[in-house]
Amino acid sequence: MTVTVVNPATEGVITTLESAGVDETDAAVARAKEALPAWRAVSPKDRGTLLRRLAALVEEHGEELARIESENVGKPISGARGEVGMVADVFHFYAGAVDKHHGETIPVAGGIDLTLRDPLGVVGLIVPWNFPLNITSWKLGPALACGNTVVLKPAELTPLSALRLAEFALDAGIPEGVVNVVVGKGSVVGQRLVEHPDVAKIGFTGSTEVGRTVMKGAADTIKRVTLELGGKSANVIFADADLERAAAAAPYAVFDNAGQDCCARSRILVERSAYDDFAQLLIDATRNVKVGDPTSADTEMGPLISASHRETVKSFIEAEPLFRGDAPDGKGYWYPCTLVEATNDDRIAREEVFGPVAALIPFDDEADAIRIANDTPYGLSGSIWTRDGARALRVARALETGVLSINSNSSVRVSTPFGGYKQSGFGRELGLHGLEGYSEVKNVYYSTEG
Ligand code: NAD
Repeated sequence: MTVTVVNPATEGVITTLESAGVDETDAAVARAKEALPAWRAVSPKDRGTLLRRLAALVEEHGEELARIESENVGKPISGARGEVGMVADVFHFYAGAVDKHHGETIPVAGGIDLTLRDPLGVVGLIVPWNFPLNITSWKLGPALACGNTVVLKPAELTPLSALRLAEFALDAGIPEGVVNVVVGKGSVVGQRLVEHPDVAKIGFTGSTEVGRTVMKGAADTIKRVTLELGGKSANVIFADADLERAAAAAPYAVFDNAGQDCCARSRILVERSAYDDFAQLLIDATRNVKVGDPTSADTEMGPLISASHRETVKSFIEAEPLFRGDAPDGKGYWYPCTLVEATNDDRIAREEVFGPVAALIPFDDEADAIRIANDTPYGLSGSIWTRDGARALRVARALETGVLSINSNSSVRVSTPFGGYKQSGFGRELGLHGLEGYSEVKNVYYSTEG
């Protein structure tokens, strides 16, 4: 069995890799288990030093990693460079966090009560294809910082950057066996990690559908799971907002990474009194999105990941859209930026499209905006645009979503928690919160009597 790795912008084959099966997965888990005692015994200072060296290697080889990611995912090189910069920052952050993740002393009678942090053991990290290296780092950084060893399964479509990162981990001095990458099918390698009795936790990012399977599979061994799943986030534009700024920003909140972004604000909710003006501004801004060759420095949107995914995206467009942009012809899985008018009951507003398609939905007032924004099984991200500060905070309190931005669409930062409500999953990545998912709390009572 092999995995064929394709450039989505050209449809050319980049490489072909062996696809691992259950035996190779078990061997990787065994290597990680063997490496665990020595790795958890490395002093916090030294673990921090090794992570800092890994960050430095990512910086040093940043252009190479960005090119791998751009070619394999079809994402514009400028975006890939930014993502690799974040990967280095993530390792720097967790290098600095290792010795700040400490326990407590708790006042009790008759002695001293203290808490210790233990690593979980061998952790299985399962990653999707849309931000392969970024999402890998969000899991690998805290997992290693807390003293766990790792078996990482990248998506079949995009394994190349994770394989290169594992080489840098060795070059940085992280011992053999601590970071293991296994390339193979989710239903084989991923499922085996979920079921394996020696894997203590699964850190999963992917679709809600597969997340459900992971959660069920983890039940037999009472594995810890954190799930970062799909989204259908709302970008809520009130009539009193700076409409020009909101409209200029809105396309990039959906069409970045060709809409293949769990945080995509793909439901654009607009107060009815400003709807027509905003729609026109949004069309003008969307027309300016530069779609094309991912290797060009000024390209803003590349192709979709695969031909079959393009068919799925296409299936959402049932009538003539409000606006359809341009996209290259010929080779590559291109799809244009598309704006449609919808109600919140339409399929396009209910399901994650994971492509460059945004639904415009009008609302009447603040209560209506909150009702519509929350009327979804998902709860990952979202934005609120208004000049009324009290309203912004009122609406932020009312929205059932894990990550929000006010007068901005940016919500992913190295030092701040990221994760979902409802069927967008649970657990938090990034920031100091990210460490909670990779350690156990041990409570120790020491009697001072006698
Ligand atoms: P996917 O769920 O199909 O696959 C994700 C990973 O799970 C892949 O590595 C895949 O091989 C593996 N997998 C598949 N079947 C499995 C199984 N039975 N057991 C264990 N692992 C299995 O998702 P995708 O298509 O790669 O990525 C797109 C999805 O990921 C979207 O729904 C998107 O919203 C979501 N996503 C969420 C976040 C987040 O942080 N919330 C970030 C990025 C992407």
